Amino acid sequence: MKVENLIRKEIQVLNAYHVPDPGKMIKLDAMENPYHMPDALMDEWLELVKHAEINRYPDPAASKLSSVLKSYMGVPQGITSDNTIILGNGSDELIQIMAMAVAQPGRKILAPEPGFVMYNMIATFTGLEYVGVPLKEDFSLDMPAMLDAIRLHQPVLIFLAYPNNPTGNLFADDEIEEILNVAQGLVVVDEAYHPFACTSFMPRLGEFDNLLVMRTVSKMGLAGLRLGLLAGPEKWISEFDKIRLPYNINILTQVTAEFALKHAEVFEQQATTIREQRDWLFKELSVFSQFDVFPSRANFILLRVLEGDASQIFESLKQCGVLIKNSHSAGGVLTQCLRITVGLPEENQALISALKKSV
Ligand code: PMP
Repeated sequence: MKVENLIRKEIQVLNAYHVPDPGKMIKLDAMENPYHMPDALMDEWLELVKHAEINRYPDPAASKLSSVLKSYMGVPQGITSDNTIILGNGSDELIQIMAMAVAQPGRKILAPEPGFVMYNMIATFTGLEYVGVPLKEDFSLDMPAMLDAIRLHQPVLIFLAYPNNPTGNLFADDEIEEILNVAQGLVVVDEAYHPFACTSFMPRLGEFDNLLVMRTVSKMGLAGLRLGLLAGPEKWISEFDKIRLPYNINILTQVTAEFALKHAEVFEQQATTIREQRDWLFKELSVFSQFDVFPSRANFILLRVLEGDASQIFESLKQCGVLIKNSHSAGGVLTQCLRITVGLPEENQALISALKKSV
């Protein structure tokens, strides 16, 4: 039997999502929170995990966790709003669920480029076409191009990462509003980096019929749990819920996330430190005349190497034991760009020392 005869062509030409093995390197490549569960919470957490009934299927609706998340994430509730949420195995799964719900030959997903790669990949997985609209040089939305593309392609789904990955900036609120007004499809404001952005479209749910807001617990320090949520009008979410596989949120995730959110102030303190470290790192990186460093509202910083070679610097940092993300291979506006996740203060210092040796 031949692969060519059975597997779809568009899948055959893909490369599997590659995650480099960090070994013992300082890991500043994947926008994780560098802090572990604090020791003070460890015993109480382990006790809960000990009693989790792993022989039973978990609550299929994760009801307790859902209600904790709704309130923690500030999903607007009221007499006039009928907003609700659906949980996913990471927000990746939610992107997939939305795509599956709307997929039909010829239909399209649209997002600004460069953006989060899974929008494009999941479009391909689900048989949708993907339209990437290039950002302007300063990584803001190219509104005439966005509006033209929306009118021309009539995308069923538009993804706007707020802040954007890998550029780190927030798109302008009034431009997002314009897109919401013009789009005939759903517009997902992806707030994966919300703990570091200090602004949100969540309070505006219900104001636009087609607005959905996606969040994740990954960047707040719980990436290993794989838990994302999509909030929006009940009429959309209840359709997506039909596609969700039963028990997609496992018992250990349910128990741990509920526990963590009871102690949310611990994770918020970590986010505050990460924001301070981001600002420190921005200043330190800006001292290098060889770099153009882009302001960030996320937990990572993108820079462009103006003098020298990004790939060489990336390799040299690896030799010094620091792993960052080489964005150069993506091409376009990311040519000669490197993306650095904010780590622990000592890791950020180690990065700066290693960079001094590498440029
Ligand atoms: N959205 C954006 C913009 C991201 O950068 C990422 C992950 N890097 C995700 C979603 C996926 O997050 P999760 O871990 O919840 O799948």
